[in-house]
Amino acid sequence: MTDVYTPADLPAKIQHYIDGEFTDSADGDTFEVLNPVTNETYVRAAAGKKADIERAVAAARRAFTEGPWPRMLPRERSRVLHRIADIVESRDARLAELESFDSGLPITQALGQARRAAENFRFFADLIVAQADDAFKVPGKQLNYVNRKPIGVAGLITPWNTPFMLESWKLGPALATGNTVVLKPAEFTPLSASLWAGIFEEAGLPKGVFNLVNGLGEDAGDALVKHPDVPLISFTGESSTGQLIFGNSAPFLKGLSMELGGKSPAIVFEDADLDLAIDACIFGVFSLNGERCTAGSRILVQRSVYDEFVERYAAQAKRVKVGMPHDPATEVGALVHPEHYDKVMSYVELGKSEGRLVAGGGRPDEFPEGNFVQPTVFADVPSDARIFQEEIFGPVVAITPFDTEAEALELANNTKYGLAAYVWTNDLKRGHNFAQSVEAGMVWLNSNNVRDLRTPFGGVKASGLGHEGGYRSIDFYTDQQSVHITLGEPHNPTFGKQQHP
Ligand code: NAD
Repeated sequence: MTDVYTPADLPAKIQHYIDGEFTDSADGDTFEVLNPVTNETYVRAAAGKKADIERAVAAARRAFTEGPWPRMLPRERSRVLHRIADIVESRDARLAELESFDSGLPITQALGQARRAAENFRFFADLIVAQADDAFKVPGKQLNYVNRKPIGVAGLITPWNTPFMLESWKLGPALATGNTVVLKPAEFTPLSASLWAGIFEEAGLPKGVFNLVNGLGEDAGDALVKHPDVPLISFTGESSTGQLIFGNSAPFLKGLSMELGGKSPAIVFEDADLDLAIDACIFGVFSLNGERCTAGSRILVQRSVYDEFVERYAAQAKRVKVGMPHDPATEVGALVHPEHYDKVMSYVELGKSEGRLVAGGGRPDEFPEGNFVQPTVFADVPSDARIFQEEIFGPVVAITPFDTEAEALELANNTKYGLAAYVWTNDLKRGHNFAQSVEAGMVWLNSNNVRDLRTPFGGVKASGLGHEGGYRSIDFYTDQQSVHITLGEPHNPTFGKQQHP
């Protein structure tokens, strides 16, 4: 194996952060965190349980009922959020270094994610100030307005893919709107989450507003979901975990936002610009190691250009550079964890009987250890194949031919998921009509995964519940209390005043 890179000044242990203090678990329990390049334990993290969640929720609850944060003017909170964004930006290289080391993401892509995390805070810092209160007036009759109030303690449960950025996506709006939070990050990648504490302290976030409990989903995550003083759960993760959380939240009627799994189609029509489509479909499934919820992991190609597409796509996939995560030339790094590696590899083996292997198909020779997988392409995959239907969440793609637009739509909609779809055609009318019919929360037409932060993000079917992003996040993290005042005469002046015989 080539040089194994270890960042300087790694923490000796990863702790919880509760009420402004770093702390171990009440029972002292810890779990091991692995380096995805060697699969050796590089640190141990505090394994939170119910008692730790109770401490964190109590601190967040106190900060909500007694502290200044929910009572501050939006402009004051906005200043703190902008400071957070400044600090994240000023430390982007270090954040990327640690994130890449902990998760196996290529360093250049981890850097992009760190910058996006700063952007998320800046966006919500501005939005919360710009947001106009809704007020409706019928002159001389009535005035109605809406009080947007923070809800309380928000429980944030996040996955291991691009962990720091996805945490920012929930922390930004939850804090901007005046809530206090308990974050339960993914157990595979707890390193970057622990950096929030120092950033928030430095930016002036009051004590108790941000709390962090590490631990396993079935312990810390479950206790957070079942805590009666946590009225909101924002969850990103697998659809099956989402179903469990949905059920566990039901007795409390909690507010839920769910960003779940995907098996998103990229549909390439014969009139598409094939050069652009191939580049985008390569990036769409192999960037971020394929560990991307919106990965275009099923490519549907019109038969007249199918053979050319498959040949050129496979050739390009073979040139995607697999390498050490810290190497700036690396395009695909190491998958996050050996358990996940085994899962992805089992799909690679399965794919050999379900489709025609045209690129990859195993571990790269130059990486005998660690969670490295060759970018893998299967062609001629039928729609009932498991590699067509199930989320693999790695650098593995299934290509399937279609003849007509109707067949493309039928194939695109033929999974339980509905997160994203990518449509490649130079017929704009067809592109827009297809977008209208495809079962996906988000559609990219002749483009690849660019999204203005004002537009909603979220899936349909098994890919999610609700949307985050822009005002949708503000709506989710606030109660919208409506207040009504009569300005004119009461409209029922005689009610109850009639003379009865
Ligand atoms: P996961 O569902 O295994 O875990 C996500 C989080 O939930 C972790 O913090 C975990 O500890 C916690 N958890 C697990 N069981 C729990 C329980 N019973 N109660 C409460 N919390 C529990 O998901 P993962 O493997 O970490 O992440 C990958 C998945 O996330 C993929 O399916 C991917 O598509 C999805 N994802 C979706 C989006 C999106 O925006 N739609 C974004 C990123 C990732």
